[in-house]
Amino acid sequence: MKFFKVFTELIIVIFFISAFFCSSAAQSINFHWPGLEQRSEEFRFGDTPLQNLRFKQVDSLLHILKSQFPRSFHFTQTGKSVENRPIYLVRLGTGKIKVLLWSQMHGNEPTATAALLDIFNYLMNSKEDKFVKTLLDSLTILAVPMLNPDGAEKFTRRNAQGLDVNRDARDLQSPEGRILFDLQKKYKPDFGFNLHDQNARRTVGKSNKLVAIALMAPPFDLGDNDNPVRIRAKKVISVIHNALGPYLYGHIAKYDAEYMPRAFGDSMQNWGVSTILIESGGWFENRYSFLRKMNFIAIISAFRAIATGEYQGANPAIYEQLQQNDKNIYDLFINDVMLLDGTGGPPFLTDLAINFETVNKTASVSEKRGIIADIGDMNFFAAKDTINGQNFWLTPGFITVLKQPHKTIDKMFDQISDLLLSGFTTVLVPFYYDQTSQSKLLRSKIDFEKFPGNVGGLLRVDNNPAILTDTLTLVKAVGSGFMGIIEKKQKSTSVITRWFNKPSVIWNEIEENYTPDSLNAGEISRLTAFQANRWKLSKRGKIRIGQIADLILFARDSTGRIKIKTIFIKGYPVMVDKKSLYPAVLGDRWLPGLK
Ligand SMILES: [Zn+2]
Repeated sequence: MKFFKVFTELIIVIFFISAFFCSSAAQSINFHWPGLEQRSEEFRFGDTPLQNLRFKQVDSLLHILKSQFPRSFHFTQTGKSVENRPIYLVRLGTGKIKVLLWSQMHGNEPTATAALLDIFNYLMNSKEDKFVKTLLDSLTILAVPMLNPDGAEKFTRRNAQGLDVNRDARDLQSPEGRILFDLQKKYKPDFGFNLHDQNARRTVGKSNKLVAIALMAPPFDLGDNDNPVRIRAKKVISVIHNALGPYLYGHIAKYDAEYMPRAFGDSMQNWGVSTILIESGGWFENRYSFLRKMNFIAIISAFRAIATGEYQGANPAIYEQLQQNDKNIYDLFINDVMLLDGTGGPPFLTDLAINFETVNKTASVSEKRGIIADIGDMNFFAAKDTINGQNFWLTPGFITVLKQPHKTIDKMFDQISDLLLSGFTTVLVPFYYDQTSQSKLLRSKIDFEKFPGNVGGLLRVDNNPAILTDTLTLVKAVGSGFMGIIEKKQKSTSVITRWFNKPSVIWNEIEENYTPDSLNAGEISRLTAFQANRWKLSKRGKIRIGQIADLILFARDSTGRIKIKTIFIKGYPVMVDKKSLYPAVLGDRWLPGLK
């Protein structure tokens, strides 16, 4: 009897020990392979900054591979976008297991497209490698890099119809959605990789850790149930988690989404494709190139585990135990600062939050621009960076007109550079608009977009009264890139400029002979209010949510004297303590006079 009791106790203890080990998500196979990091760098393909990755570059890189490997690199046009851009399908390998990958169904999510290009380049250039041979013998890799080239062209999420392709899995009203649906139907892939970039400010659980990569095995039903298809996806995610762990410790999350039948991930899972969602987040300064590498490692590690069948030994509990994407943090705080917001009111103590948004500068160039995201008490929120604004005043950046622009472009740029360095964040340059004159020519040659500061042209109408009655010319000029109109006296132009939400500036209202670093408190208040209220430059001149973060931080010493501490242009500190950071902050953009 006593023996029996000891025996049952022993059984119970063994039961608990084994239960403990099973639930602690231990995994005996190691899927981390250090060599992959070096390969992702060695085989990086194309050097376009990812926010500027357009169809043109993808097209040309695929053709380069085709010309280098005419027999083994297969790519075909599998359809066309709304705007008739080709959508390509790359097919590599001859194996039985079919893996379908698609990237950038959201046009402003380029990370995985770049990683896919690197992967093609690696696989093609390493065909003799035993490991790559195994992959290509076991797998048939079907990949659509850049499913939404029209969105990519404009760096927007949606396609040219204004549809979110990832909400079109049932209606199939977008050509891009139909292409993905047809590929699934035709090839019946075993695995699917749904590749995205997520909001770059999400955190892992309640922590302030930014998510680098979020993963999900999308549900196939409302009950969040499992079936063999989904469990396979969960196991592959455990493989990826294991492979990326040493690089991203603590910065991997589970993507947060409920069952959404109109989304492709959920539908694919439902159609029997073990589907893995990979979302690149915002951890790390150099977000795109680091996460591009992580995508490379994640996908190749998954390929390996699928090709060898080792993924079957992975523990799906690792997936279950991932913390979710949770709150949003901000990019930058300026805390406890006296704010003079440009409306003429008295200063008040507040925190300010800035987020950097990618916006299109020109058709093919996007840039990250700091936008004022919130004003008020931010005590219970977090930001990636914080500037302590105690004892400082924060004001809108100053706007000025270059009254006597030099006739030669180089000298004019020097004039503009001098103004930027003395604390003006926006410089407006008057030009005549005349079909035949030299000044029209001058205007068209100047690429204002290359300037780090905000530089724009004003249409000058004072010497040409005829233009004031020529409404069509005015509309054309203001609509085609002039920031506003400058004239001797206020005339009827204000109606037109109001239409375009652009300023109408009067010559003798422009303050002469001042620089922001020579102002006293009263003058700061008066001038910021003047430029905000009188000129009404869209998105600039005031500190309000949604405005561009052109800001000046003024320090006040014990005698009440004021001097510029930091100049921010588009959220970037470009001058600190009179030291120019233009090249360091804004890269190698052309800025004569600033070395
Ligand atoms: Zn997306």
